[in-house]
Amino acid sequence: MAEEPFVFTRRHEDASSEGVYQFRFFCDRCGGGWLSPPESFSLGAAERLFREAGQVFGRVMEDAEAPGELRRAAAGPGRERAFQRAVEQGKTQLKKCPGCGQWVCPESCWDAGQGKCRGCAPVAPAGGGGAVP
Ligand SMILES: [Zn+2]
Ligand SMILES: [Zn+2]
Repeated sequence: MAEEPFVFTRRHEDASSEGVYQFRFFCDRCGGGWLSPPESFSLGAAERLFREAGQVFGRVMEDAEAPGELRRAAAGPGRERAFQRAVEQGKTQLKKCPGCGQWVCPESCWDAGQGKCRGCAPVAPAGGGGAVP
């Protein structure tokens, strides 16, 4: 297995589809995701490789439900670059908490006023609302 490139959130997934690189990064706190803008690529060589491999492993691939690893290998360096770009963009979308170092979503886990995540920022009691652990 090749080493995964540096990732800033704890979890991410490859949301790429036919001809499009796209990645989802998960908020470290709530697990909400940020989806990178789709980046289309020419199938070209990758698809050819994929198809050739499909002919060789045709039987196996019919049995296996998703040849994800093979597809990933076929996507090759283009995917790696697209992933790095997605990471760079993600760093501008998600917020890194200086307190705990987690990357959190700006929508529900970030306290812009405090400049910290909601786990580190003191929670102002909101009139008997439900306390969030
Ligand atoms: Zn969140
Ligand atoms: Zn924090």
